[in-house]
Amino acid sequence: MMFPDPFGPISREEMRQWQLERLQTTLNRAYFQVDFYRKRMDALGLLPEDVAALEDLRTLPFTARRDLADHYPYGLFAVPLRSIVRLHTSTSTFQGKENPIVLGFTRHDVEMWRSLAVRLFEQVEVTDRDIVQVAFNYSLFPGAFTFNQAVEALGATLAPAATNSATIQLQVLQDFRCTVLATTAAFALHIADTMERTGTESSRLRLRLLLVGPEPLPDPARARIESVLGVPVYGLYGVTEMVEPGLAGECTARDGLHLAEDQFLAEVVHPVTGEPLPAGSEGELVLTTLTAEGYPLIRYRTGDVTVLREVPCPCGRKTARLSPVLRRTDNRVSVRGIPFYPEDIELLLRRFDSGLEDFRLVISTVYGIGDQIEVLLTRTPAQDLPGGGRSQYLDLLRSQLRRALGLGVRVQMVEPDQLPREGLGYRTVFRSLTPVPDSPLPSPP
Ligand SMILES: [Zn+2]
Repeated sequence: MMFPDPFGPISREEMRQWQLERLQTTLNRAYFQVDFYRKRMDALGLLPEDVAALEDLRTLPFTARRDLADHYPYGLFAVPLRSIVRLHTSTSTFQGKENPIVLGFTRHDVEMWRSLAVRLFEQVEVTDRDIVQVAFNYSLFPGAFTFNQAVEALGATLAPAATNSATIQLQVLQDFRCTVLATTAAFALHIADTMERTGTESSRLRLRLLLVGPEPLPDPARARIESVLGVPVYGLYGVTEMVEPGLAGECTARDGLHLAEDQFLAEVVHPVTGEPLPAGSEGELVLTTLTAEGYPLIRYRTGDVTVLREVPCPCGRKTARLSPVLRRTDNRVSVRGIPFYPEDIELLLRRFDSGLEDFRLVISTVYGIGDQIEVLLTRTPAQDLPGGGRSQYLDLLRSQLRRALGLGVRVQMVEPDQLPREGLGYRTVFRSLTPVPDSPLPSPP
C-alpha cells in the first residue's frame, strides 16, 4: 500500500497536501457515483472542483447517521456490488430492525483497515515475536476480522479467542503464553474480575500489554485492569461506519490517540451550531474518508466529543492526537461494549406494546463502563397485555430485547411514581456499582 508514513519525515504541510489530493478524488467519486451527494451538492451549486483547499470542505453539508439509515441498504455505495468484498453493520439493534445501516467495503478498503490496525500494534511496540489473543465478537461488526488480519500481517502469532468465556480466555492466555490481549474494556474488566475470583495471579501470565477499544476507556476502568493484570492498557478508537479499529490509537507515551490522518480528514465542530472550532477546542469530531472506495463519507458527524491536538508527540509521530472520547453529542449508550440508542429501544417497546406509557433504561456501571441494563416501564391497564399474563409479557419482552441487543435485559413493570428521575441521557439513568464517578455519561456538551 502506498500510504505516506505519517510517523516518518513527512511534515504537516506535506500531510495537508496529501489530504487535499485524496479529498478531491473522494469528492469526485462521491459526486459522480452516489446520487445522495450529487443532489446535495447540486442544490448548493457546488462541484467537486470548487473544493480547492482543505478549508473549502466547510462549504459542504454534514452527513448524519440518519442519512445513512435513510439510504438502507445500498443507497450510499459508490461502487457496484460486485466490487464489494465485505458488508458490515453499525448498530447493535440491527436485529431489532431499528434504523439499520449497512456498509460496504472493497478489497482496497479492507486492506487499508488492516494496515491501520497493524499501525495500532506498532504504536505500542507489538512485534512479530508477540502472541496476540484477540477477544472480539465475530459478527456483523468489523473489529474481530480486522484485528485478526492485522496480527497475521504483522507476522505475530494469532490466538483468535473470540467471545469464549473469561475462564477459557484466561486458560488460553496462560497456556498459549499470549503476550498481548486485544479486547473491549468491558471484557477486560470481566477478565480482571474472574482473575480475582479464581485467585489467578498475573505473574502466571506472560502478558505484557492490552489493547482495548473501540468503546471508551474511562480512567477508573484502565486503573482497575492495570492493577489486576499488572500490565499497561492502551486505548484505541474507531467509528464503525469508517474503520474499526484503526482510526486512532495510543502510543506508548499514552498522551492522546494518534489519528490516521492519511486516511481520514478530521474537523472539530460546535455540536449545536456546526461551526468549525480551532485546534485544541473541545467539540464534535467530524470525519471525511480520504481513500475509502466502497462507502465514502463526507463530513460525517461521529457524535463523539473530543479535542484534537496538532502538537508533536514525545514518541516523534507527527499525526494529530485525539483526547479519549468519553462523551457523546447524542444519547448513545454502551453496555458491555455494545453500543445502542435508547430511541431504538423505545421503538421496539412501542411496537411490542401499544399500551406502553413511559420507561427508563437503568444502566449499572462498573468502573465507569456500562455493565447491566434494566428496563422499568409503565403501561396503561386499559390495553390488553401482549402475551396474555404478566409473566408471559415480561418473558416475551425480555427475549425480544435480548435478540435485538445481544444482551440479557431485566424488565420490570412499575407504577409511574416508581420511575427514577431521568438522567442526563434520553430516558436513561446511570447507577454506579463501584465507588468511582461515572465518566462516560453521555451528557449534552
Ligand atoms: Zn505518540
